[in-house]
Amino acid sequence: MQLSTTEKITWCPGCPNNAILVAFRKAITELVAAEVLKEEQVVAVAGIGCHAKILDYLNMNTFNSLHGRAIPPAVGIKAANPDLSVFVFSGDGDSYSEGFNHLVHAAQRNDDINVFIHDNQVFALTTGQSTPTSPKGHKGGSRPSGSIENPIDPLKLMLTAGATFVARTYSGEIEKTKEIMKAAHAHKGFSFVEIIQPCITFFDTRDFYKEHLVDLPGTHAVTDLDAAFAALRRDDGKVPVGIFYRTETPTYEEQI
Ligand code: SF4
Repeated sequence: MQLSTTEKITWCPGCPNNAILVAFRKAITELVAAEVLKEEQVVAVAGIGCHAKILDYLNMNTFNSLHGRAIPPAVGIKAANPDLSVFVFSGDGDSYSEGFNHLVHAAQRNDDINVFIHDNQVFALTTGQSTPTSPKGHKGGSRPSGSIENPIDPLKLMLTAGATFVARTYSGEIEKTKEIMKAAHAHKGFSFVEIIQPCITFFDTRDFYKEHLVDLPGTHAVTDLDAAFAALRRDDGKVPVGIFYRTETPTYEEQI
């Protein structure tokens, strides 16, 4: 199986998007080898942003949508042919800002798609303007004296909207990211994975995450919604990663 293309990689050298690409290729390679899915069943969809270049480097069925509109075609593809496994790549600018309503309603409907958000906390493709996950005080081209909003917490929002699989991972941890991608695929229903992906050119947060990332404890009750919210409410500034919540409810495709 050849999942790579011959396209020249145009991400900045060392960009953690490369690690997400490697994790995804590994996940699909393993799923195909285990006969969980066939290559021709895989569809990758992206919006607009640095994340979207991933489609150039994947030799598979792909669809590149408009800015903030990665999710609607993915929903249509899955509804039209439920045998397909649909993976959406999007960014914080793409799906937390421009197209946030699509993310919320896909979670609400329990569309059986897998959404991977490359969250670098800036509009990186347009040189680092603030997004809804930029920290308060972030200085970007659109906010030279610092953003005055508090950042949103996408995981709490997804839990509230009804997402049936909610996880967070760090792009630098390729094996863990691959395993979470496979778990998202195994889940029947809407899978939301926030992938922390520092933008090393416009907002390099690697040192911060090195100090603040923690794994969810092995005792975390993954089917307990209250436990998922509790795991996100921390007062020590740490950023937990892992699978926060998973539950089974009828998918949108099953109901139509
Ligand atoms: Fe990666 Fe940032 Fe460069 Fe975009 S601008 S390719 S996110 S390092």
